[in-house]
Amino acid sequence: MSADPNCIFCKIVAGQIPSRKAYEDEDIFAFHDIHPWAPVHVLIIPKRHIASMADVTEAEAALLGKMTALGTKLMKELGVTNGFRHVINTGADGGQEVYHLHLHVMGGPRPWLKG
Ligand code: ADP
Repeated sequence: MSADPNCIFCKIVAGQIPSRKAYEDEDIFAFHDIHPWAPVHVLIIPKRHIASMADVTEAEAALLGKMTALGTKLMKELGVTNGFRHVINTGADGGQEVYHLHLHVMGGPRPWLKG
């Protein structure tokens, strides 16, 4: 599915809901989390609607690799110098609230760790 009309993150990609954009290319969109858990907290998402990691196959390996590497690049660009976390929540027991695959990348001085 390319876009889900009911998906809040698809609406962010389309510019129908405002966001603080950190990066965009043909495959990926990155923006600052509205309720940050850390001093720097970005969400990196595929533009294409993929609901969660439960839907990911080897066909998405390159996309996931690109998202992960972008997280590292953005932390450097945003001045995070002392370590950071990449986190993906999947499904109800994984704590996923928004069903459009997203990679949380968080950094900055601790304490800020969330369960
Ligand atoms: P959790 O809420 O447990 O972190 P997710 O892993 O599904 O669950 O994360 C969804 C994230 O999306 C949350 O960190 C939330 O603050 C963020 N979020 C929701 N709506 C927006 C928005 N409009 N702009 C930016 N971030 C958003």
